[in-house]
This record gives sequence, structure tokens and C-alpha cells, in this order.
Amino acid sequence: MSCGACCAYFRVSFYWGESDLHPLGSVPASCIEKLDERFAVMRGTDSKHPRCEALEGTIGELVRCSIYAKRPTPCRAFLIHGQEGPNEACNTARAAHGLCRIDLGLYTAV
Ligand code: SF4
Repeated sequence: MSCGACCAYFRVSFYWGESDLHPLGSVPASCIEKLDERFAVMRGTDSKHPRCEALEGTIGELVRCSIYAKRPTPCRAFLIHGQEGPNEACNTARAAHGLCRIDLGLYTAV
């Protein structure tokens, strides 16, 4: 809610069957673009300067995913660095937006 860097750094691609075009999918078709015969991407992320169109707000201040309950697998799998172990990709995205590193110990129980 206070970051959003990863939503505006990576290409978010996934099997098209996750879209609601498929009976078992949930990602709104209006939010995706076809990548190829098997994969789709979140609209806005297949770009030189990616920013998912489902992301609302200002990165590093206050953001929200407008389709949070229906977001695709890569978004569910991408955790904050240290949340359940290391994820340097998180800090890479943060650095690209001028945000500070997250300490690996942030989520360690005290
Ligand atoms: S679908 Fe939501 S969580 Fe996934 S990249 Fe877009 S804004 Fe971020």
C-alpha cells in the first residue's frame, strides 16, 4: 500500500487461462493484453517504462491494486523482500523508483 514499485518495473506475464476469458480464471480481461498463444500480460507492463494499469496511486506514497482479489499468480507470488525470505527483485524495483532498500530483518519476529 505504500510501495507499488514492483507493479511498475516488471512485465507481469502469466498463462492466459488465469483471465476471466477462461471459466476458471479471474483476472479481468479488460486489464490484460495477449502476449502470444499461451500467455497474457497485465496491460501497461509490456513496455519500456512499465506500469500496470490496475495500479492506482503514487508509487512510494500510497497505492492500491484495483483488482487485488483477482490479481494473477505472479503478483500473488511476488513478496516483499524479507517477508518470507529474500527477494532482491523487490529491492531492485524499489531502487529503480528511488526508494530505499528494505532490510531483510524487517519481518523477523523479535
Ligand atoms: S495486478 Fe495489481 S498487484 Fe499485479 S502488477 Fe497490477 S497493480 Fe500490481
